[in-house]
Amino acid sequence: MLDAFGREITYLRVSVTERCNLNCVYCGKEECAKRDAELTPGQIEKIVRAAAACGVTKVRLTGGEPLVRDDICEIAERIRGIPGVKTLSLTTNGVYLRKYAAALKAAGVDSVNVSLDSADGSTYRHLTGADVLHKVLDGIDAARAAGLSPIKINAVLMKGVNADGAGKLIDLARTEALDVRFIELMPFSDPGEDKNLRVTGEEILRDFPFLKPTGETEGTAVYYAAPGFSGRVGLISPVSKKFCKSCNRIRLLSDGFIRPCLGYDTAFDLKPYLDDEEKLLEAVQKAILAKPAGHDFTGAGGDLHAMNKIGG
Ligand code: SAM
Repeated sequence: MLDAFGREITYLRVSVTERCNLNCVYCGKEECAKRDAELTPGQIEKIVRAAAACGVTKVRLTGGEPLVRDDICEIAERIRGIPGVKTLSLTTNGVYLRKYAAALKAAGVDSVNVSLDSADGSTYRHLTGADVLHKVLDGIDAARAAGLSPIKINAVLMKGVNADGAGKLIDLARTEALDVRFIELMPFSDPGEDKNLRVTGEEILRDFPFLKPTGETEGTAVYYAAPGFSGRVGLISPVSKKFCKSCNRIRLLSDGFIRPCLGYDTAFDLKPYLDDEEKLLEAVQKAILAKPAGHDFTGAGGDLHAMNKIGG
């Protein structure tokens, strides 16, 4: 369905938990809701069914870390069975991907995005608080072997922290058939401090002038490559090149609230309607119609919140 500004809402991001096995510096992790506050697979299915009735065709499982839920494959399987859902993908830090890759594929997950902010072991440990880079790389291999496709690597670069490792990440797209996407740091903790750390898409193109546009744009990413590359480099610039005008997404949080916009706190509690299909549909429609025209990520035009709650 169309929102109040004529945008067609086709994409639902489902945060299945606030819990995470890593502690990334930019995530601004707030205290996690208790496990028993999380929606069950059956409740998630009901809500996604209502969203699909509103025109959602693409669903992404996220978190927190979605693979800390041991019922993640049941969640995937239930969503996959919903008529209208054409693509199902998952965003993960990859630490448990080796364990789940084949089962996720069997449950109907098409593709995975793996967050990997550095290909250097000690920087990775500094960023995430865990010495598990080898597990993530092994998880990516497992995802490939399981037939999850495409595999996209998402990285957030920060000046003085991991930005000097951008070349090593770009090399992954050179040598492997995968996309490496750089997401601009969004201000979810302190807008002023984040501004100094942020590496924009333009800065990446300036530092790596051999990257040329492929002419492809997918969702929020604009793609680049160079001769001899097996994969592509994607730039996602939510701050320097806002894409609110074409935003097609809404977000379900793990506690049953639906959020029309990443930049605002406005959220609608769907839990009271879980046993009434008609009212649930109305509540999802209401959330879509409440989607604001946009936000400015300065702290003045929105509410800054931790990503472990929102799911990216
Ligand atoms: N745990 C999963 C993971 O690591 O991919 C899913 C949740 S994580 C919050 C989703 C995405 O949000 C990750 O790609 C992460 O890099 C991104 N993210 C978190 N905080 C961010 C910020 N302040 N700016 C930009 N991206 C951010």
